[in-house]
Parts: sequence; structure tokens; C-alpha cells
Amino acid sequence: MSEEKKLQEYKRKPDWIRVKAPTSKGYNETRNLMRGLKLTTVCEEAACPNIGECWTKKHTTVMILGDTCTRACKFCNIKTGKGNPVDPDEPAHVAEMVLVTEMKHIVITSVDRDDLDDGGADQFVKVIAAVRKASPETTIEILTPDFRNKPGALETVIASKPDVFNHNLETVPRLYSYIRPGARYFHSLNLLSKVKEIDPEIFTKSGIMVGLGESETEVLQVMDDMRSADIDFMTIGQYLQPTKKHVNVEEFIKPDQFLKFKKRAKAKGFLHVSSSPLTRSSHHASEDFEVLQAVRREKIKKAENVFCQDAPIDFEEMKKYNPNYDL
Ligand code: SF4
Repeated sequence: MSEEKKLQEYKRKPDWIRVKAPTSKGYNETRNLMRGLKLTTVCEEAACPNIGECWTKKHTTVMILGDTCTRACKFCNIKTGKGNPVDPDEPAHVAEMVLVTEMKHIVITSVDRDDLDDGGADQFVKVIAAVRKASPETTIEILTPDFRNKPGALETVIASKPDVFNHNLETVPRLYSYIRPGARYFHSLNLLSKVKEIDPEIFTKSGIMVGLGESETEVLQVMDDMRSADIDFMTIGQYLQPTKKHVNVEEFIKPDQFLKFKKRAKAKGFLHVSSSPLTRSSHHASEDFEVLQAVRREKIKKAENVFCQDAPIDFEEMKKYNPNYDL
């Protein structure tokens, strides 16, 4: 077999990547609902391999601010061009979708809107407010663009208090100029760090794709960078080439390597890690949110116990420094 043929064989999707074509009744119902409400989803636009599973369960990731992105990342299937006019009815349509599907946890993302003064921040706020009003019990996760050169946009979105703030780093810093030319690694990292600084109650989340030619050491470095930005939840999934025009898959990472990444990331202190070939940032987002809450609760409980058991309050000592302290 020629070297080229061997390479082609190697690059064919391995068994652990193949997924069934979506055909279920639930899938079709979700599809019709989205069409009826004129909502765009990243599930379809990004050709997500999990669409059959997610849509059968009525879990979608709604993509606001149109279907056209002002950036042109090499891995992404979303079309590039001039952004669509902002739809004033979009917040109400997203809220209706949440009501109809009785969604417990919604993920809202958007295309990059470098053409708008606020990068689309105001529309995020309006959509969050509409969902909150229609269904106060529904928890809200946002997956935002990087709001680069949009002063005040991040702070505007944080003030609307989403439950989870996700922004994906996508890849290791060495590959940024090629894979994600419009973005900057440290800007994205800093954005997540700021979310935590401004509102520590919001869970932060970020993810990368592997199989783009990054080394294991580079992935471990990204984990450390994410931890230094106090990110709570890391996702790692296999990059899949959407069309021949997109960047090639350099390698199909084996499931045991994903497991290894998961163990290393957990050891580095993330509250939660999802690492598998088909992990996508919004896959199982509702279940993952419950895990995040439970782990945070557990940590707080442990910290309180440590404080009570290991550091009994020394009232005499306190009185030395504050004679007016009332024993
Ligand atoms: S993993 Fe996310 S993007 Fe993919 S189908 Fe599920 S909800 Fe949509």
C-alpha cells in the first residue's frame, strides 16, 4: 500500500467516532420546532455529531445573532460574511422554545459579531432576560465569542448573571495564528479570568479540540493556564473536519488518551472535566451543570469542616489583638 493510501486509511473515521444518522421522532419534532420559531442552532450549523442524541432529548444549543460569522476559523463549519441584522423577536422566540420543550438548562451561543459595536452583548442580555422571565427555573449557560476590541461588552453580559459562562480556547496557543487567526489565546484566557474576578458565583467553562497537531505537553499546559484563570470545567473533544475545505484532522486521538487527559485535568483541580472523542462543549450540559453544583457544594462543606475541626477559634488570642472583644 502506498504511503498516501496508508495515510488516507489512517485518517478515515475510526469506529469510536462513527454515529448513527438522526432519524428519531423526537429529532424531527425538535427540527420542526426550530424551523417554526426561525431559530438557528450550532448543532446543525457546526454539523455536530451528537445531534441525533441531543435532539431526540430536545436538547439544542441555540445560536443567536444570525447564521453568519464575521470570523473565518479554519475548523468551523459556520459560514463567514457580513453579519445578519439583529432580530428583535429572537429573545421571545428563544423563550418560547424553552417553554415548549420544558428545558431545565439552556445553552445559548452566537456567531462572532465584530461588525456590531457591542459584539452582540446586548442581544445576549435580552435573550437571557426573556428566558428568565418565561421560565425562572431554567438555568442558563452561555457560550460567547471573545468580545475582542469591544470595551464593556463582557461586563454587560456578566451583569445578566448567567449560571455558566463558557468561552472555548479551542486549541493550543502555538496553533492560534493558523487555526483561529482572528482570536488571541491570552485574550480569551483573560476573558474567562475576568468573569471569575467580577462574579465568582458564575461557573466558568472552556474547551479545546484535539487532533489538530498539538502535543500532549501543550494540552497539559493549556490545562495549567485554565486553572490559573480559575476555570471550573474543562471539555476536550476530537476535532472532526466538517468539509474538505477545512483544516485536516492530524490525528484521531484514542479513547484511552482522552481518559488520561481527564485524569490529569481532574488532578489539576477542575471541578469537572469532560474528555472523550465526542465531547462537545454543550453535550450533556444539563447533567454537567448538576455535577458542577454538587462538587462546589461538597467543596464548600469540606472547607467549612476543615475550618471548624482544624482551626478552633482561639478567643484568648483574639482578645489580645482586640481588647474589646466580648468573650
Ligand atoms: S453536543 Fe451541543 S452542538 Fe452538538 S447536538 Fe448536542 S447540543 Fe447541539
